[in-house]
Amino acid sequence: MTSQEIRKQFLNFFASKQHEIVQSAPLVNKNDPSLMFVNAGMNPFKEFFLGQKEPVYPRVADTQKCLRVSGKHNDLEEVGMDTYHHTMFEMLGNWSFGDYFKEEAIAWAWELLTEVFKIDKNSLYVTVFEGDKEDQLDFDHEAYDFWKKHIPAERILKGNKKDNFWEMGAQGPCGPCSEIHIDIRSDEEKALTPGKDLVNMDHPLVIEIWNLVFMEFNRRANGSLEKLPEKHVDTGMGFERLCMVIQKVQSNYDTDVFHPIIREIETITDTVYGKNEKTDVAIRVIADHVRAVAFAIADGQLPSNTGAGYVIRRILRRAIRYGFTFLNKKEPFIYQLANVLESQMGENFPEIVSQKNLIHNVIKEEEHSFLRTLDQGLILLDSIISNTTEKRISGKKAFELYDTYGFPKDLTSLILRERNMDFDEAEFDKEMSKQKSRSRAAAAVDTDDWNILSDDVEQEFIGYDYLQADVKITRYRKV
Ligand code: ATP
Ligand code: MG
Ligand code: MG
Ligand code: MG
Repeated sequence: MTSQEIRKQFLNFFASKQHEIVQSAPLVNKNDPSLMFVNAGMNPFKEFFLGQKEPVYPRVADTQKCLRVSGKHNDLEEVGMDTYHHTMFEMLGNWSFGDYFKEEAIAWAWELLTEVFKIDKNSLYVTVFEGDKEDQLDFDHEAYDFWKKHIPAERILKGNKKDNFWEMGAQGPCGPCSEIHIDIRSDEEKALTPGKDLVNMDHPLVIEIWNLVFMEFNRRANGSLEKLPEKHVDTGMGFERLCMVIQKVQSNYDTDVFHPIIREIETITDTVYGKNEKTDVAIRVIADHVRAVAFAIADGQLPSNTGAGYVIRRILRRAIRYGFTFLNKKEPFIYQLANVLESQMGENFPEIVSQKNLIHNVIKEEEHSFLRTLDQGLILLDSIISNTTEKRISGKKAFELYDTYGFPKDLTSLILRERNMDFDEAEFDKEMSKQKSRSRAAAAVDTDDWNILSDDVEQEFIGYDYLQADVKITRYRKV
């Protein structure tokens, strides 16, 4: 089954259970200061759970674009290193706003996975909330009893508050959850260690695919729980992980979601995926990051030097550096991958088609400008590393890389980590705030001195400077 068919089957299944199918909300949150990017399928429905808005439909299903690169959910470090965490991914979900509850949510999840998608029942485990003394909550015996109708008791595991009690934030709607995990190891490996011992252990082949949240409480400001007037269901399933399971491969990157992009990277960079771990990580990083960046741009978030724009710029620069160092690409090429995304995902996400030119141009320009300084920055960093005997470089040096060569802080720390090193972050931050006050002071002077140049003042062009990130500053000297 192709990924397109899998997505359709999911939506059709819930349509057949009277769910309204809605489009994904944009990846970028324009009017929620607490959250830059959507990081879970429930975000766009937050107001319904909080009782601030009445839902039009009591049952909804969709696939939601999510990005987990900042804040509470930050998977950036894992991406490319493992094979099942992405920056941008699709979260398939079904919702009940005050309508059905645990029984139906559990029965339908089971039916979809085992009857529609025909996943082997003996590879599945489910987790149920064990209860919590502090919150005076009991073991979720309701969920347990509903699961028992479908799956033998030895495959139902207890989970603690951290994994099995979902909360939106410090306050607000919350409730116990049940996760579905799958063991896709070979039979030989399964014989060595029981799958149930590996659930929630970060094993690449025993992974969580679906989280069913049963929202029935409200966390009050004083920390206590009260029953919500209505009970809701919020589920989230990783689409790329589901494709991996159904397509019987052991990595999200071996599904047809990523195949075409990886083929294109291989062609452009003249490399082969699956031969060398360093190259493979680089290929995975680029295949992942181009999606995040392209979808962010399509939804209106261009790379920039502040806020959400800087998050996108950091992701892209990380990809550029991987291509430069490990695939030996010294010219822009990531922008070309947008073509693949268009043909592959355009049907479900038309914005990726309509914004194609913008995506192309913006990524290409970013690649150009960063590649201009990346080389010199890496040379500098190499010399810093070889001139120190310590495992930590100074924050000042790291700041110089940021300021002069446009190295985001996390790029420097990534490169250092590859050599078991790091830098003094506190000192970096101090340099950053010093620079901010310097540039504020400079801005005040600039108005008289720089911008308003009278005709009788001659200037000599003395070159371009790439001072702050990649803002090009044209330098003149008065003569
Ligand atoms: P994990 O424990 O694997 O990090 P999670 O518990 O953080 O996942 P949830 O917040 O429960 O994930 O999200 C619901 C589903 O979304 C998960 O069951 C998983 O299938 C998928 N998912 C979560 N994070 C990612 C990611 N970074 N990339 C791809 N899929 C993800
Ligand atoms: Mg996680
Ligand atoms: Mg988890
Ligand atoms: Mg989870």
